Amino acid sequence: MTGFQTRRILVTLQFDLLILGSGPAGSAAAITAARAGLSVALVDKSAFPRDKLCGGGITGRSARYMTEIFGLQAERDLFLPSTRFRLTFEGRCIGEEPKAPVLQMTMRREFDAELHARAVAAGAQVFAPVRVTAIDPDAPSVTLADGRCLSGRVLIGADGANSAVARALYGRAFDPAEIGFGLEVELDRDLTDDNTTEIDLGAAQWGYGWVFPKNGSITLGVGGVHAKNPDMKAHFRKYLALHAAKLDPERVKCKGAYLPFGAYRKQPGRGSVLLVGDAAGLVDPITGEGIAWAMKSGQFAGEAAIDALHTGKPVMAAYMRRVRYIHTEMAAARRIRALIYSTPVRHYFPRAVERNPSMTRSYLKLLAGEIDYADLGHRVLWRIARRLGGSVLRRPA
Ligand SMILES: Cc1cc2nc3c(=O)[nH]c(=O)nc-3n(C[C@H](O)[C@H](O)[C@H](O)COP(=O)(O)OP(=O)(O)OC[C@H]3O[C@@H](n4cnc5c(N)ncnc54)[C@H](O)[C@@H]3O)c2cc1C
Repeated sequence: MTGFQTRRILVTLQFDLLILGSGPAGSAAAITAARAGLSVALVDKSAFPRDKLCGGGITGRSARYMTEIFGLQAERDLFLPSTRFRLTFEGRCIGEEPKAPVLQMTMRREFDAELHARAVAAGAQVFAPVRVTAIDPDAPSVTLADGRCLSGRVLIGADGANSAVARALYGRAFDPAEIGFGLEVELDRDLTDDNTTEIDLGAAQWGYGWVFPKNGSITLGVGGVHAKNPDMKAHFRKYLALHAAKLDPERVKCKGAYLPFGAYRKQPGRGSVLLVGDAAGLVDPITGEGIAWAMKSGQFAGEAAIDALHTGKPVMAAYMRRVRYIHTEMAAARRIRALIYSTPVRHYFPRAVERNPSMTRSYLKLLAGEIDYADLGHRVLWRIARRLGGSVLRRPA
């Protein structure tokens, strides 16, 4: 047992499925399993609604999964549709699409609360806000600060980038050399006059800056591989200055959070314990998109639990079979990332995008979930590799 503190257990409550964390991943696992009749405990350190630092960009893929898994449609005041898209490099426009596939912009406080409420309505029993004092991956069980012990036949770790379940299994949640880091601020809406979504590929190393319009505000941020950006705050101030010249960047208070930017776990869990979403490192290494994969992996883990409890077969095998699809995408994206962010290409890439509007469209189709990385790699990026003599392709990811 991994205990943060020992405490007397007063009562043990038994469930089919224990889920730690009720972000998009945990709520997706909960709704999937509860609808199939499993008894589900959904445990979170926070009561909902709660804040979560995030750009809140709901891609076409995310929108599809949220409808498929939660029955939630995008046509709600929870979302602001953005169909204008601008790709920039250090503030210079290198690609623009006035009629891009729609990106739905949302605030995670309200979005996550909606998903959580739908999981509860399906029958999941909530334990929140609670403090977890011990996790036993072998039982599996979790002990709460009030002395209750929750025991399950399967435990799902959906507790984000700094997952306590991953720490209980592996000693640490992520590899510091691989993890990403992002800084963000919500700004007044009057700084921008339209609903244009912007991605700036030059705002950070092995990452980017973003301006995402919202109902009532805009979210501005920068993020990328932490080890490649030792002074992310300097990148943030520079990018902020490009957009809000009237603001003193030194006085603007931003917030930071880690994101597992392509550092996915090849074996996400052990025995009867499965990791999903950020806890499993399922964030796109290029776009930083994590909400879609959190929901999808949560659904996969919920289905794997249903299968395993009905057949008596190992839950990990049932999960691995399903999650392989996401891993294939992550691995392909990592290879492409090594290509486009490597030093020889970094300065060539913006010019290539500028000259080939199809590259911006491909990026948007990728966000929309209309193509996958296999298509993108073959159709567009090999062209760059050929021009560079193929040398960067031989570098390891
Ligand atoms: C700056 C930034 C910008 C981003 N922008 C985007 C974007 O625009 N679009 C996109 O698709 N993705 C974006 N992402 C990624 C996205 O936020 C994550 O991939 C997504 O939130 C993962 O969902 P999750 O359910 O796995 O984890 P989370 O959303 O982190 O949820 C984890 C849950 O577990 C709970 N928890 C944590 N520890 C414990 C504990 N010990 N006990 C009990 N409960 C616990 C938390 O309270 C939380 O409710 C961004 C990330 C960052 C950092």
